[in-house]
Order: sequence, then structure tokens, then C-alpha cells
Amino acid sequence: MRTKLVAGNWKLNGSRESNRALVAGILDGLSDAAGVEVMVCPPCVYLPEVAAQLSGSSVKLGAQNVSAEVAGAFTGEVAAAMLREVGCTHSIIGHSERRTLYGETDMVVAAKFEAARAVGLIPVFCIGETRDERESDATMDVISRQVAAVLDVAGPSGFAEAVIAYEPVWAIGTGLTASPEQAQQVHAHIRRIIAAADVKIAADIQILYGGSVKGANAAELFAMEDIDGGLIGGASLDAAEFLAICAAAAQTN
Ligand code: PEP
Repeated sequence: MRTKLVAGNWKLNGSRESNRALVAGILDGLSDAAGVEVMVCPPCVYLPEVAAQLSGSSVKLGAQNVSAEVAGAFTGEVAAAMLREVGCTHSIIGHSERRTLYGETDMVVAAKFEAARAVGLIPVFCIGETRDERESDATMDVISRQVAAVLDVAGPSGFAEAVIAYEPVWAIGTGLTASPEQAQQVHAHIRRIIAAADVKIAADIQILYGGSVKGANAAELFAMEDIDGGLIGGASLDAAEFLAICAAAAQTN
């Protein structure tokens, strides 16, 4: 059986003071989320400090991005081994904001996926269609293309230690959420693609939903057969809201 995972993507938000308060609030209220994996992904400059505050708790630490490179003349980049060294177990890879604002192609995303795996950093591999793609009925083709780009490079075994996050671009930060049925359709499609390569890996992989998840809509999404938790943006910046999402995951675990 798959464990639910709730991951908070703090994006470009926070300060030492607000992070301390947010993490303290999450740690204080986490007893309602027994059996759920919980993770926070702060901006990378704060990772060591947040790691120290999380020490001794079950809350995991993830990065928001990783370099495809290992070392060398790559100004501004952060390598997967560096993220491991400061306590990250996971890194978000291929978030739609990285794809659209920073020009990350499917190939770049696949290289980052491999760079993470090479040092045991679990990729949280983000995929999803734009509004235009959904309206032109291209959702499943887009998803297939995005998954195939990584499958081609990493092979099915690349997904043995990985998480996939389905994040319809039109639902990120917009207040619009895919209906549980819309999300389930895409999650099932993703699992079928992986199953065509390896049935066991497909059955085990956590597939998260992301896109305006809140305490009020989390339970109905997480109740769907192929939805194994959430990647949470805005609502992860508020401890009470994030904890409500974690509690919804625990109810549906
Ligand atoms: C995200 O950016 O990964 C995300 C899902 O954001 P939000 O929850 O704010 O839509």
C-alpha cells in the first residue's frame, strides 16, 4: 500500500523568523497526521536552518530545484550532492514555474532527474498541462510526452525511487482546482504509462496532485484511488492550513 505524502513548496517566500514560526507550528500540530509523510521545501538558502529545526522529527526536507550538473563553473547552481549534504531527501524537479519562467525543457528536466537520483535524492517530478492544452484535449498527450522524456533517460527503474506530481498549470496559484475526477483520470493515465514499463514500480510510486489544494478540498482529492497526497504551494505557508491538508491525508490513508 502506498503511503500518502504531503509536501509544501514554499517557493520564493519566507525569512528566518517566519520560517521558524511556520516549522514550529507544523511540528506542534502534526500529531493528527499519523501515518502520512510530510515534507517542506524551503528556499535553498534556508535549508540547513530548517534541517536543524526539523531534526528529531519525521518531517522531511526537500529542495525546490537542483542542478543537472555535478560541479564546476555553473554560477548560481546548486548540486544534488550539496542538497543531500544539508539534509534533503527529495527535490522538486520540473515545476511548471521552472519550465515556463526559466525555460527548462523536457530534456533538462530529465537530466536533473538523473542528477538527483545519482546521489540518492528523490525527485518529485512535476508534470501538467496548460489551460490551452486542456481545452484542446491534449492533456493526456502532454502528460505522456513529459513522462516519456524521463522514462527514455532513466528507464522504468528510474521511477523506483521517485515521486510524480501532477500539477495542471491552470490550477497552480489560481484558486482553480481540478475536480477529483479530472485529477484521477490523469493520475490513472500516469500510472498506466509507468505500468506499461514496470507493473510493480507503477503500483508503488506516489503520484501527488498539486494545484490550489487547501484544507477544504484536500480530502475529496486524496480519496481518489490514484492520488497519493499533494504538492502544496500557497496553503503550505500557513501552518493551520497545511496541517488541515495533512490531516485530510491521514483520514484517507
Ligand atoms: C505548486 O506551486 O506546486 C502549487 C501547487 O501551488 P498552489 O498550491 O499555490 O496552487
